[in-house]
Amino acid sequence: MAEADLSGVLTCTDCGAARISPVVCTECGTIFEIPSDAFALFGLTRSWAVNPTSLEARYEALSRACREKSATRQDFREKSSEAVAALDAARRLLLDPVERAQYLLTSYGGVARDKPVRKREFQTEVMEIDQAFTKARREGDTARLAAVVLEAEEKLASAIMAAGQSFTRLERSLVEEVSAAADALAEARLWRRKVDEMRAGLGR
Ligand SMILES: [Zn+2]
Repeated sequence: MAEADLSGVLTCTDCGAARISPVVCTECGTIFEIPSDAFALFGLTRSWAVNPTSLEARYEALSRACREKSATRQDFREKSSEAVAALDAARRLLLDPVERAQYLLTSYGGVARDKPVRKREFQTEVMEIDQAFTKARREGDTARLAAVVLEAEEKLASAIMAAGQSFTRLERSLVEEVSAAADALAEARLWRRKVDEMRAGLGR
């Protein structure tokens, strides 16, 4: 999925340079606001799709600007450490798929659950893994132990993938529906103008 960013939209009001994020100007070190949204902090739109390489590059550029430019300026010395701390926390959150999923879930108005709806089936799966692990450890079967751990890792990966698929579908349908609504709205506006003109022509 294409990564939406705000590059080119934001410019520094102090030096005029383009800004990759609302938080700091990488040219002059001016700190603007520290957005509470982890994605906004990096100049990204909220999405399941996070490109770790590009996130790291942004993190590197922004935190370096805070440390090397803002921190050396009297007016931003205090704010710079606040900004670095916010960047650190947001980076951790965005790179951890479970944290990222939790964040997106909440932002879509979802409520986190302790257990999945398919509770029984899930508990059975967990119990089976637990039993296999205990048995392999008791028997000192290292190959079996490694296989059980691998199985649990695969379950983790597929649960993360399922969450990602849901968010991706949600984002796609959101984009499509917003576009459909914009289209319908354009028609509605044209029709309203038309109806108004016709009514005026009728002398009403
Ligand atoms: Zn600047």
